Amino acid sequence: MVKSDTSTDASNIYMIKEDDYVLLYIDEKRKHIFRVRAGYRFSGDKGFVDHEKLLGVAYGTKITLSSGVKAYVLNPTTEDMVFKLFKRPTQVIYPKDIGRIILKLDIGPGKRILEAGVGSGVSTAFLAKYVAPEGKIYGYEIREDFAEMAMRNISLLGLEKYVEIKIKDISEGVDEKDLDAALIDLPDPWRILDVLYNALRPGAPVVFFLPTMNQVIKLFDELSSSTKWIAVEIEEILERIYETKKNAIRPRVRMIGHTGYIVSTRKILNM
Ligand code: SAH
Repeated sequence: MVKSDTSTDASNIYMIKEDDYVLLYIDEKRKHIFRVRAGYRFSGDKGFVDHEKLLGVAYGTKITLSSGVKAYVLNPTTEDMVFKLFKRPTQVIYPKDIGRIILKLDIGPGKRILEAGVGSGVSTAFLAKYVAPEGKIYGYEIREDFAEMAMRNISLLGLEKYVEIKIKDISEGVDEKDLDAALIDLPDPWRILDVLYNALRPGAPVVFFLPTMNQVIKLFDELSSSTKWIAVEIEEILERIYETKKNAIRPRVRMIGHTGYIVSTRKILNM
């Protein structure tokens, strides 16, 4: 592989550089993410490769490990990075739910979003990715250790400039005003409805993520009897992932049966 020496060469953006994260795809079960650094070596049960051999190579290239086994270098997606590299001391929101939540909250560049709690920062990372390059996530997290871990996680993606985490119980109030939307992932959201109301712009969508139906019913009763919220919806996303063995394509035997319910609503003016 010839290494280009002109930084203006458009093809350079597809080339692996020092400090890039790469995903080394060996097979379905062996997908390794690591940072490329001269002098280091990737080593696994199928052999090793020196990082030096990857520098200047284009993403998508086939390489050969020391054992002769083939592997491919790919650029990891945000999902790959989050679920392989993030430390997760709390329950987190999973991809099937995050996808739906992004649409419900109408997340896009420039939006200013409220989040509570932040936990491991998994949902925060995806929100941050889609509000970039001008928006911001204002996260409230009661536990300092979780807030620090979340920020460290989010920094792995270089998204820290789009996130501000406050170590604070959200029921004590939100400092920001006229926020565009809110994602609330904590056990007792009915306690913070007034705080939430005051922090949002009129019409703003809110999503609550709740693991049990008992919580959903309690929240639903509060929202549907209030003059401050409208369009309350409850949904649950079911996902079925398939085995992709040649000549044996079928659903996996084991499924994740339950993650949480997505309850959404919109703020209305109650003058
Ligand atoms: N959505 C996150 C996980 C959140 S876990 C993710 O995908 O990674 C729920 C978090 O809410 C916990 O970290 C907990 O400490 C925090 N929390 C609970 N009550 C809170 C409150 N009143 N104010 C702020 N954070 C709270």
